[in-house]
Amino acid sequence: MRFVNFGSLNIDYTFIVDKIVCAGQTISSLSEQRFPGGKGLNQSLAAARAGCEIYHAGQIGDDGLFLKELLEEADVDCRFLKVAEEGGTGKAFIQVESSGQNCIVLSGGANQKNTHEYCDEVLNYFGEGDYLLLQNEVNCLDYLIEQGNKKGMRIVLNPSPMNEKIFQCDLSKVSMFIMNEDEGYQISGETEPEKILELMEEKYPNAEVVLTLGEKGAAYSHKKERIYQMGYPVKTVDTTGAGDTFTGYFLACILRNMQIKDCLQYASRAAAIAVTRKGAASAIPWKEEVDEYEE
Ligand code: ADP
Repeated sequence: MRFVNFGSLNIDYTFIVDKIVCAGQTISSLSEQRFPGGKGLNQSLAAARAGCEIYHAGQIGDDGLFLKELLEEADVDCRFLKVAEEGGTGKAFIQVESSGQNCIVLSGGANQKNTHEYCDEVLNYFGEGDYLLLQNEVNCLDYLIEQGNKKGMRIVLNPSPMNEKIFQCDLSKVSMFIMNEDEGYQISGETEPEKILELMEEKYPNAEVVLTLGEKGAAYSHKKERIYQMGYPVKTVDTTGAGDTFTGYFLACILRNMQIKDCLQYASRAAAIAVTRKGAASAIPWKEEVDEYEE
């Protein structure tokens, strides 16, 4: 059973500012930092740090080679990762005020340059029963779902960030949804976790659904079966990347054939550690840290 994540890779530029810039205004930042980012990259890192064998497919520009190095350092197989001929690496420009408020401009760059040929090239390597993990930060999402499903792959969709592109995909071909409450609301129109799960079951009766509930924990549902996991009480520092850590760890446990309740518990523990640290990629713990975590 193999596991490929076809996902985004970004460079996050964070600018600390006194006050977020207004229309027509030019301001200077107080400081600037560059971080690895992208939901795809974070989730592959999390799965690999959980000890899982994973392939990452997706595109960067010449300016993003350090992202590939970061994945390779964690033993992610990057044989399918491509340096796009046009378009630099995807970028996020993030302004952060001292109040903690932020605003973000995304530039998809190479993440949006995927072609059907490239998707086929990657998917040809995989087949029946292999896992294909997807988020909504790359183009060709509908094609990847369709072709992956045709090959008998198990499609895991983290519908994030949620927008109309998700609804252009044939979601009946998704084997597993991993989403937060807000995404759950946008897909189902319901706000209560239990109602979200009920509606997902009605709409996609064959899919497994994992609903993450922030500090409250997570819930799993499949064909009327429900499993709940409480959140770990921790001192929260920065929740960026909590969902990505959870997703990578959860799938790593699934691929290890662990019971669902144990997958939920282990992923929640990893995500809880991540929220006690600043940043996204840098906050994702390694397996040893999760094993040693004292409740
Ligand atoms: P996202 O980051 O995608 O918005 P959530 O906020 O639901 O997703 O968080 C994902 C998982 O991270 C949760 O299911 C939980 O296990 C863990 N988590 C998130 N926030 C906290 C918190 N404040 N304390 C402990 N665990 C948390």
